[in-house]
Amino acid sequence: MIRKAELVVDAQAWLGEGPAWDARTQNLYWVDILAGKLHIFRDVDRVLELGESVSAVAPCRSGGVILTMGRAFCRLDPDSGAVSQLAVPDGELDENRFNDGKCDAAGRFLAGTMNRDERQPTGSLYSLDPGGTITRLLTGVTISNGIAWSPDHRTLYYIDTPTREVHAFDYDLETGLLANRRSAIRVPAEMGWPDGMTSDTSGCLWIALWGGASVTRWDPQSGEPLEQVHLPALNVSSCVFGGEELNDLYITSARAGLDEATLQEYPQSGGLFRLSTNAVGMPTFEFGA
Ligand code: ZN
Repeated sequence: MIRKAELVVDAQAWLGEGPAWDARTQNLYWVDILAGKLHIFRDVDRVLELGESVSAVAPCRSGGVILTMGRAFCRLDPDSGAVSQLAVPDGELDENRFNDGKCDAAGRFLAGTMNRDERQPTGSLYSLDPGGTITRLLTGVTISNGIAWSPDHRTLYYIDTPTREVHAFDYDLETGLLANRRSAIRVPAEMGWPDGMTSDTSGCLWIALWGGASVTRWDPQSGEPLEQVHLPALNVSSCVFGGEELNDLYITSARAGLDEATLQEYPQSGGLFRLSTNAVGMPTFEFGA
């Protein structure tokens, strides 16, 4: 089946990332990390200038949103735009910043860090529980990226982009701890770099391909790609399901790192796209506080 993604916001974002769906408000949150902007899209795209690298966002059970900014977990009241810092993980290097993050079904916010030079494996994956306790789940990460769960929540899928792999872990939803790391998917170099990711109710993974001008659907049991949808943006960064039926895939992209010739070839780089699918997405879970 040939599918075509529709450009919904021609945002020209430097580093569009972190889409999250708020089922209560039908808002699609997303960020431009390098521009320090939080976008709130619902028919129109509203932009809050937060001024520091805002990398991931999730709705909160009690209203508002939780964010990662720089090396901190923060909370934002979207009506007033006021940001308050919740916590900073111990021992994070000055040269690190947070990158991708997502909540689990128990209301924890998982988010990972990366070295700003994108080369040193100084990053970690953290979990912030609703009570405010931070647990370091992984170390030795270079560019912490996509996070997704299987429909039964018993498997966590995780992308450290330079590995070009999706790793699977046993996930204990009661404790929030990981075990039994293994490789689930290897993305061939000619397809690009795996970046952000989401899952659908059939257990498939939807993976944005940085440098690959596409989103792809994979079977994590076989490790095989099932579908590839091309986009008029070279650096496709992340995706999430939204809409009333959770079958619209919202896709972010970036202009950063592209030269003039490439930008002319991919003029919609940095846009927010929407792809109508016949899958039903896993919901965006809320932070539990
Ligand atoms: Zn990413």
